[in-house]
Amino acid sequence: MSERFILSVEDLTVSFDGFKAVDDLSFYVEPNECRVIIGPNGAGKTTVLDLICGRTKATGGTVKFKGMNLLDMREDQIVHAGVGRKFQTPSVYEDLSVFENLELSYPKGHGVFGAVFFKQDQAVKDRIQEIAETIFLTDQLDEKAAYLSHGQKQWLEIGMLLIQDPELLMLDEPVAGMSVAERKKTAELLNRIIQDRSVIVIEHDMGFVADIATRVTVLHRGELLSEGSMDHVQNDPKVVEVYLGH
Ligand code: ADP
Ligand code: MG
Repeated sequence: MSERFILSVEDLTVSFDGFKAVDDLSFYVEPNECRVIIGPNGAGKTTVLDLICGRTKATGGTVKFKGMNLLDMREDQIVHAGVGRKFQTPSVYEDLSVFENLELSYPKGHGVFGAVFFKQDQAVKDRIQEIAETIFLTDQLDEKAAYLSHGQKQWLEIGMLLIQDPELLMLDEPVAGMSVAERKKTAELLNRIIQDRSVIVIEHDMGFVADIATRVTVLHRGELLSEGSMDHVQNDPKVVEVYLGH
């Protein structure tokens, strides 16, 4: 069974002073899948990503990624194993160009000092060019990140993760604050990058979810409320009740 899934989350639980923010949660992600996690505010969505990437320590359960138990690993080891995580607010280096931001994130150029002494060979330049195309920033490569639109900064941050070639990429509300046109392009971007990896996205915009989701997992009060295709969860009376109740 483990072969079929790149990520197996089983009985995952975290309790903050007795409050269970994630409660006995299980879900499984396949290779090349775009899984979308939805749920009301406070449902535990961000906490699930925090647990998977090692930022928050679980109280119980297991998280298996390609046979490794992530709950036994540190945050940097989890990144190294191939799990990338984007937080809600973009954190690009505003004073650096798009090119330099991508270069800094290139695996060999880890850390500021690594980047300074890092020989900028053709392979790196080619890879940066390739990523820039994927994130629609080819024409902005020499521009300072500070001058990018909010949406472009979000794409740059996705690019900074992609350049590390993660097998699992986790994005927390990537289209928040984006225009309709930027959302469409982001959906295009995600549909392209799942050809080489799996993605977990937390999202509220149902139109966007419909454009990207392979499957949807609905969380409510830290528990799994419903799971399946977009159609399935939208017509699930339990989901309808939770959303209308808010
Ligand atoms: P969502 O992303 O679905 O909106 P979160 O995962 O951010 O929800 O939060 C779920 C619940 O867990 C919230 O009630 C939040 O206040 C609580 N919570 C999250 N992190 C912590 C923490 N480190 N300590 C205490 N409570 C937390
Ligand atoms: Mg959140």
